Amino acid sequence: MAKCTFKQFQEMYPSDAACLAKLMDVNYGGTEITCPGCGVDSKFHPLQKRRAFVCQLCGHHVYPAAGTIFHKSPTNLTKWFFVIYLMTSTRHGVAAKEVERQLGVTYKCAWRMCHEIRKLMASADYSGPLGGKGRHVEADETLVGGRARRHGKGKGRRAKKTVVMGMVERDGMLRTGPVPDDKTFTLEPIILENVVPDTIVTTDGHTSYQNLGLTYQHGVVKHSENEYVRYDHTFPDGKLQTIVHHTNTIEGHWSHFKRSIKGTHVHISAKHLWKYCAEFNFRRNYRVSHMLMFDRLISAMALPRIQEA
Ligand SMILES: [Zn+2]
Repeated sequence: MAKCTFKQFQEMYPSDAACLAKLMDVNYGGTEITCPGCGVDSKFHPLQKRRAFVCQLCGHHVYPAAGTIFHKSPTNLTKWFFVIYLMTSTRHGVAAKEVERQLGVTYKCAWRMCHEIRKLMASADYSGPLGGKGRHVEADETLVGGRARRHGKGKGRRAKKTVVMGMVERDGMLRTGPVPDDKTFTLEPIILENVVPDTIVTTDGHTSYQNLGLTYQHGVVKHSENEYVRYDHTFPDGKLQTIVHHTNTIEGHWSHFKRSIKGTHVHISAKHLWKYCAEFNFRRNYRVSHMLMFDRLISAMALPRIQEA
């Protein structure tokens, strides 16, 4: 990963004014814009005491932080930017406790900041289709969470786990999220919605995937029979083509996700699980560049504004 060091980061965003200038860039495309107040091409200057820029001709104010997660937050922009930096620069994520310690804010505030950034990661992530002709997607589901209850009575006291479903295109994007259950009616439509027809799709032998062959080039590895890789040989246009079916890519993500959750957050509730999934999806999809992640997150805040126009 092309990583931005903390020193470089500090040089880019040393003050609230620098952060606000970045938001002005993202939301308005710079400080030389057509003024919404007087309608003339004008230059805007930052105000000292407010998160605003002012038109040098008519005095009209624009608020580049309005409508973003920083809006109405009394926390400094530099602190917000720093938490975004932390959450994008680690592979395992950051505990709210750690943010509390590093920023000197309350735990509640730290927790809220982390969750706002996770939601931002969800909206900044790749949302297009997965797969395509000749492309290969692995789909799988796993159980996440469930606190061990030592004081419960009997075996029936097992805490509830949540099913998380995931799809990953080899050399491409990943998408995961919690689902109500692992039945065909739940999993099949999700794959149909996200994966382009004719894609090569590999799953394990779970019966919920049994109809995928109608839409895809579906291959199954039977984990229950200790089969972890299967080679399918086909001869399109008379040439030998070998498809290697396995679900190692998605399973690698599951183990990374679970290990990180266990090590960093210890326990997360089913209610908030989607946000953690989104965080790990986003970091994995844009892992090539730390600065790209940072810019995508900042830019994602401008999206509602673009839709309005
Ligand atoms: Zn003006």
